[in-house]
Amino acid sequence: MSVTPTNVSLWTYRTIPFTFESGYPYQQEVLAAMAQWENAAGVTFLPWSDEPNYLYIQKESADNESGIGMQGGKQIVGISQSDLALHELGHVIGLAHEHSRSDRDDHIDMQWQNIDGGQGNVQFTKDLYSNNLTDYDPLSVMHYPAPATGWGGYPDNQQVWTMRWKQDNSLKLGAGDNQGYTALSANDKNPGGILSLYQQQRVPMGPQIASGKWKNPYAVQFSFIIDGQTYAFEHNPSAKSWYIQILSPDGTPGATTQHGTWYDPYEVQFPFTVGGRTFYYGQNLEKKNWFIQELLAGGLVGPTTATGSWHNAYAVQVPFTIGGRVFFFGQNLETYYWFIQELLPDGKMGSETDHGTWQNPYHRQFTYTMGDRVFLCGQNKIKKRWFIQELLPGGKMGKEISAGYWQDAYEVQFPYNLGGVQYFYGQSMTSKTWFIRQLNADGTMGPLVQAGRWDKGYQVQYPFVSGYQQYFLGHNTDDYSWFTRQLVAL
Ligand SMILES: [Zn+2]
Repeated sequence: MSVTPTNVSLWTYRTIPFTFESGYPYQQEVLAAMAQWENAAGVTFLPWSDEPNYLYIQKESADNESGIGMQGGKQIVGISQSDLALHELGHVIGLAHEHSRSDRDDHIDMQWQNIDGGQGNVQFTKDLYSNNLTDYDPLSVMHYPAPATGWGGYPDNQQVWTMRWKQDNSLKLGAGDNQGYTALSANDKNPGGILSLYQQQRVPMGPQIASGKWKNPYAVQFSFIIDGQTYAFEHNPSAKSWYIQILSPDGTPGATTQHGTWYDPYEVQFPFTVGGRTFYYGQNLEKKNWFIQELLAGGLVGPTTATGSWHNAYAVQVPFTIGGRVFFFGQNLETYYWFIQELLPDGKMGSETDHGTWQNPYHRQFTYTMGDRVFLCGQNKIKKRWFIQELLPGGKMGKEISAGYWQDAYEVQFPYNLGGVQYFYGQSMTSKTWFIRQLNADGTMGPLVQAGRWDKGYQVQYPFVSGYQQYFLGHNTDDYSWFTRQLVAL
């Protein structure tokens, strides 16, 4: 590594959807090879669901050759032996043969008498032009092995040297670490190689801004803005404590503006703005009591404006604004009953405007606005079914407009709007995979944009805007670590 054709198409947004032919025998080995390239190239292989460009990995192939880079559409990759996975996936991400790069004659002596077909063998043809990213790497997994039996050698039943390294003609060439085709060479992992090309791509997932560790877990969090200043509200239900903290324009958490301890934990909370004032709502899932309290300039809590108690606990509750009125939707995950109720300008609870019962519980739900239309998106974490349903003026439930299934359950999901485009982010706590998906202008589910994988899952993640930049905060409630990251317009 690393050499690419000069006109190579890299995978869009560093994301490579893939699927195996049914009964494919080397899935584990291929997945392990993918993990090696993910680290070395900064790409992410993601189980295919409905993306237009994807890999179809099968055993049969005439010559084990993959197209180089993204070909577009269904891209068939033949991997007939498990130990060829790393090499073939190298082609997939955009790498050409090291021994074919344009400057190879400065580094290796071709042994044409030992090559089947001599100079006519296209596997050994020198590329007139190539993008040579790093120093010539005689040990690359993208370099044919020599000495070797087969691999274009002649006679094909004997171990022959098809090439020799000029600097040391006894050096065994190619096929990765120890010539085994199962590990990348040191230079295959050179950050100046293929990784640098993928990192030049503009992607929606921006850089990490800050990270740290809190002394406690804060399982319930949201952001809010008052007088142009952004704050995080952080609640620890087990200790019943809460904090309000500044979220600075550069995306870093700042000073605590107020903190306190409650008598009860409130596991479900959300902020809302109505009549020019900002409030937040909370419900205790055990006692089922709820409150609404004002949030004030300076990051302070104001007076409680309403309290009450529901008959049921609603583990999912999300607000939305339509036609100048504010409502919230709640679903009980045991009975699948849902309701919509109005929130009034003085921070009082309004009347119920709709209710019903669905056939499934949707553990993660959020609302988003497209022009003057509002939509509700949810996913069931067991069946992995997702839906998008319209929310109507007057706080009524509209029709389902989009539905489907994903490969993963995404326990963490949030929407954000950037550069006039509506996106949403999701992360699976099981696979630790995250994605950024677009939502279409008509409210329906849009295409996958980017996917990746964190080193661990973050149970709490939510977006915030500060200093005209879009960020999000992630928090792991097991080890108390947190990060903030930027989200970038495309
Ligand atoms: Zn090859």
